[in-house]
Amino acid sequence: MYFRMKDIFAIGIGPSSSHTVGPMRAAKRFADNLLKAVPIEQISRIKVELYGSLALTGIGHGTLRAVVYGLMGLCAEEIDTKRQYYAEVEQTKKLTLNGKKEIKFDVNKDMVLHKDKFLPEHANGMKFSAYNKQKPILSEVYFSIGGGEVLRADEMSQESKRVVYDVPHQFDSCRELQEICEKYDLSIADAVLQNEVCLQPQKEVFAYLQKIEMIMDEAIDAGMRAGGVLPGGLRVRRRAPEIYRKMKQNFLTNRQDGMEIIDWINLWGFAVAEENAAGSRIVTAPTMGSSGILPAVLRYYKRFAAHKSPLQVEDGVVKFFATAVAICSLYRTNASISGAEVGCQGEVGVACSMAAAGLVAAMGGSNRQIEQAAEIAIEHNLGLTCDPVCGLVQIPCIERNAMGAVKAVNAARLAMNGRGEHNVSLDDAIRTMYVTGRDMSSRYKETSTGGLAVNIATC
Ligand code: SF4
Repeated sequence: MYFRMKDIFAIGIGPSSSHTVGPMRAAKRFADNLLKAVPIEQISRIKVELYGSLALTGIGHGTLRAVVYGLMGLCAEEIDTKRQYYAEVEQTKKLTLNGKKEIKFDVNKDMVLHKDKFLPEHANGMKFSAYNKQKPILSEVYFSIGGGEVLRADEMSQESKRVVYDVPHQFDSCRELQEICEKYDLSIADAVLQNEVCLQPQKEVFAYLQKIEMIMDEAIDAGMRAGGVLPGGLRVRRRAPEIYRKMKQNFLTNRQDGMEIIDWINLWGFAVAEENAAGSRIVTAPTMGSSGILPAVLRYYKRFAAHKSPLQVEDGVVKFFATAVAICSLYRTNASISGAEVGCQGEVGVACSMAAAGLVAAMGGSNRQIEQAAEIAIEHNLGLTCDPVCGLVQIPCIERNAMGAVKAVNAARLAMNGRGEHNVSLDDAIRTMYVTGRDMSSRYKETSTGGLAVNIATC
């Protein structure tokens, strides 16, 4: 099944696609539906209930803030990231519903966290209810299923779960994708671009690619400059600016040891992941928790691996993103990119796989080498748990982005040095990832009830 570029690379506010972007979209959808269903003057109160993983790690992941943004009708691309919307609502106990009507809203009373209750359909459930005084007028249940995608309860059945786009190249497996590419003599990136131009004008496809590249670059640059500690109470110091300072000093004092490229990749991975943890504007790639990997690998490509003219580099960037879209579509079709469903292998593991494949494509590797890079990258992330300390997307998430970016470059290099022949296919590895995720205890799936989250005395 093909997933659009815009489904995979969405623009949102950090720190979590499933716990921030998804709930914000769900709250906005509910607010829109509510205003369509009843006259505005009848709405006097909104109640929000969060279930399962959203309740357990929602405070640290910014879910409450995101829900308020969504109810206010705010859109991630236009939001003023410096303004304290949530604090204003907290203090005044009022919010402007969808930018249209001021209603009373007490974040402490009108948002309920059901930490011991999981809705059967998915670990990330939320219920919105509207009242006219005490009388219920509309109630809807939503699920945040990963990468910022949300489905209402009635859309959760297998048949209605996914929108099937009318594109020339539909594929459910990497084997099918390879067959299509062989049949039409296409690169994986070509197949994706042919799909995209059937969904929107070519000009818009390239404009969107430029936009996401720009937001990724801005996040790297902002993260390298910012200082201080990250919000949330863990008092995690930002490390990107320190790494950057040290690297500059080493350069000036001639104390380099030949491993600087790894330092650069780490630095860029840290910079974006720290910006994400700070609630800045970020591109899901494929999620917010794993959003540092693709930007870091792309910057590596542009800075160190391209060795080409600016026009060729630009072409490499397009191939990087387009190939990553195909790889992510395979994970979304056959597994999951939700930490609450399959652990961090679905977030950092998938990002690593997408970045490795994208890098091989940008460097001119074959379709088989692309598959091999994607497979190597996920194979060595299998079993990776999600255990964020204090429910914040900081420890282990930030460091994990840097590690994932370095691993992606290594996987790409291993594939480029091979012939694309491998014992484990990408399809086998994706299936294994999903089965491993299903077998994983819920303690290790974005609930902060296992692993590092309970074994270090910080919270
Ligand atoms: S551990 Fe991984 S999946 Fe879990 S919140 Fe952090 S980045 Fe996301």
